[in-house]
Amino acid sequence: MKNETQNRKHLPLYAKILIGMALGVGFGFLAITLNWGSFVRDWVAPFGAIFMRLLKLIAVPLVLVSLVLGVVSLKDIKSLSRIGLKTILIYVCTTIIAVSIGLAMVNLIKPGNLFPKDKQAEFVERYQQTVTERESLMEQVKSDSPMQPIVDIVPENIFQAFSSNSNLLQVIFFALLFGVALICVGQTKTGSVIRFFQQLNLILLKIIDFIMAFAPLGVFALMAGLIVDYAGDVGIISSLGMYALTVVLALAVIIFLVYPLILRLFSKKRLGQFFKAVFPVQMLAFSTSSSAATLPLTMERSQKNLGVSEEVSNFVLPVGVTINMDGTSCYQAVAAVFLAQVMGLDLTFGQMLLILATATISSIGTPGIPGGSIVMLMIVLDSVGIPIEGLALILGIDRPLDMLRTVVNVTGDTTVACVVDDTNKTESK
Ligand code: ASP
Repeated sequence: MKNETQNRKHLPLYAKILIGMALGVGFGFLAITLNWGSFVRDWVAPFGAIFMRLLKLIAVPLVLVSLVLGVVSLKDIKSLSRIGLKTILIYVCTTIIAVSIGLAMVNLIKPGNLFPKDKQAEFVERYQQTVTERESLMEQVKSDSPMQPIVDIVPENIFQAFSSNSNLLQVIFFALLFGVALICVGQTKTGSVIRFFQQLNLILLKIIDFIMAFAPLGVFALMAGLIVDYAGDVGIISSLGMYALTVVLALAVIIFLVYPLILRLFSKKRLGQFFKAVFPVQMLAFSTSSSAATLPLTMERSQKNLGVSEEVSNFVLPVGVTINMDGTSCYQAVAAVFLAQVMGLDLTFGQMLLILATATISSIGTPGIPGGSIVMLMIVLDSVGIPIEGLALILGIDRPLDMLRTVVNVTGDTTVACVVDDTNKTESK
């Protein structure tokens, strides 16, 4: 009620973010025509960087506090393992569906066959340095034992885990361990610790309110900076148009067909209500290209506007932001097959299945940050013998596609939160 009265007086958040984005794009183009590029980079883009930092600043404490509270609110280990298992199972299923859609689209449209051959050498030369840099990262990942990703989930020092946003899986591990121990010791003995976390949560939510008040300006600055940086790449976009279109179509199928179908079948949320609630989250994901940075808003909108219970959203969303990346996995499949087509490599059905498996697994390991999936994509390419140098062809157009796949990533997390919440409510009746 209070919210509604406030909304009547002020523009709602999504409208402000949208206006910020539109003005940012407009200002970016104006800056290019008036040759204000360096002014934008020096004096406007830093506000976008500050906004991103504020969002990232909140990621580790938010994941820790909400997961501990999420586990504690489940009250016993049995419901924790039930909800935990269900969540992970649905996440893996949606990812497999997403990769399959990507594979189907890229095999149907075959964008690689339309790629101008004369552009190939030009792109390889242009992005060679970036590829070489990422290559050494991939070599490092590859030389580890196959069990290394599992070993890496367990932190050896909790402060070290807290010290970097790329360690979110370790933070999740610690939060689950801590939450389970809290439940086992019992609420009567740990009441004050639980209250401490609840109060900490209130403070974090207030900080998120402050950060969100800054969102329209932050988004304005991010978009203006992006336009100034990337407008010169229009030539790249046109020659990679068919590839980009394939990615966009596959992502659109996931957002407009797959998620609505899942919601219709397994949730009671109305589609109109869902899309209205998730729209600001999508806009923020689009402008930040980071699902981890979008997490605070994803949680707020899921609870306040979709009625997802705190116990479910506190658990499902922080886990989802780290391991569920439908947009990313779908994109990786399209990119891998596209590059194979460009290079004239015929992939067998077995290799397609291998892409399905590696894209699913590598999207779980992808951090929710801008361009997070590039190193992981190298692993997918390598698994089926596509030369990694091919990555140079698609790096120039990666940012806009990253913005779109991040939108799908956060929409997927929210969809699963709705499903887990509704099926949970039905089961406990
Ligand atoms: N930017 C994506 C995200 O944050 C990850 C990626 O696909 O690069 O969800």
